[in-house]
Amino acid sequence: MSSVFVDALNRLDAAFEHAQIEAESLERLKHPMAMMQVSIPVRRDDGSLSIFQGYRVHHDDTRGPTKGGIRFHPEVDMEEVKALALWMTLKCAVMNIPYGGAKGGVTVNPKELSRLELERLSRGFVEQMADFIGPDTDIPAPDVYTNAMIMGWMMDEYSKIKRKHSPDVITGKPIELGGSLGRGDATGRGAYYCIKQLEQKRGWDPKDITVVVQGFGNGGQAAARLLHADGYRVVAVSDSQGGIYKDSGFDVPSLIQHKNDTRRLAAVYCEGSVCEMIEAETITNEQLLALDVDILVPSALGGVITAENADKIKADVIVEVANGPVTSDADATLNERGAFIVPDILANAGGVTVSYFEWVQNRQGFYWELEEIHRRLERIMATEFGHIYDLAQVCEVDMRTAAYAHALNRIGGAIQAQGTQRFFANHTGE
Ligand code: GLU
Repeated sequence: MSSVFVDALNRLDAAFEHAQIEAESLERLKHPMAMMQVSIPVRRDDGSLSIFQGYRVHHDDTRGPTKGGIRFHPEVDMEEVKALALWMTLKCAVMNIPYGGAKGGVTVNPKELSRLELERLSRGFVEQMADFIGPDTDIPAPDVYTNAMIMGWMMDEYSKIKRKHSPDVITGKPIELGGSLGRGDATGRGAYYCIKQLEQKRGWDPKDITVVVQGFGNGGQAAARLLHADGYRVVAVSDSQGGIYKDSGFDVPSLIQHKNDTRRLAAVYCEGSVCEMIEAETITNEQLLALDVDILVPSALGGVITAENADKIKADVIVEVANGPVTSDADATLNERGAFIVPDILANAGGVTVSYFEWVQNRQGFYWELEEIHRRLERIMATEFGHIYDLAQVCEVDMRTAAYAHALNRIGGAIQAQGTQRFFANHTGE
């Protein structure tokens, strides 16, 4: 059986020989703790009834309550949610934040629902899952095609069910409902801080460095905006409809404005409030991935770089803002060519890190300033990037294997610190 979950397990095995973790502990990590599947009935605006499938997987809680987003996507299934939950366990360990891993999903195309239907679905998810999530047990957040508004509905529903204001049950909420400053662009910002570390190590001058961003959602937009502001040349961007290319680089803020106003990606130039369309080549996503650039930032869905197209990818550096954009059979081809991959469990971990800040603020009832969020996020990203970079050199492995080993070291350490209790629980007494 080949699936995204099996793919994730292959990578765990590859990292094992470089990590300080017992074989039995690794075996435990290959099996999620608990999996919940629910049916969510939703009354449609036309009076009819639709039933959607919802999933939530708790992968491992050794290091703390489980944490991870909920995605709304037509192709979500349990196998995918299991892989994403495992990655969350590793991601939280990489960042040294006190959480285990979880993930959720609903099989739905949210673009086909009205806003009211979407609200009923979001509240219905929480109604079914209310005993499976909780501020001290499992804390959801946004992911693909879910956003702050949806987190707000979910928090409100949970608070009603528990008859208790519970902002700490979910992160990525609107600021007005207990969200954190800086959570909105945290995923892309974390990736940007990784690139800044690499800039120092490689002595880059941003204006000489070309960047391609595949996927222009929350993460991709923020990464593109911050890199552009530093002088990096963002030469191509794409969304699910296709991409645009301009050799001299785009004015990213106007691309973002246009995309968010019209839901279309087009090359525009804005000065003040005046925007005009500019020349740009239209390219397909496949062409965009194959551009000969310095940095490729895949920021859309998983599985876009596979064994089939890995030999066409020319970028020197790949920064994975999406979860799982490169499949394990593509890793080998890319590593052989010497591509430097900043893996998802590091590159996109800014999101869950600021989610952690949000949860801490909710529990304190005391809210931090934006500068504080940025300062803390940058420090954690720089520290963990440095650890993984050094580990990769010492073990002579790629960054992904090093990141997995780094996470396994922390999880292995936590399992050991639990002492002999679990050992005796399984012991036959002979
Ligand atoms: N969905 C995001 C991720 O994959 C964020 C999770 C969170 O904030 O808990 O990392």
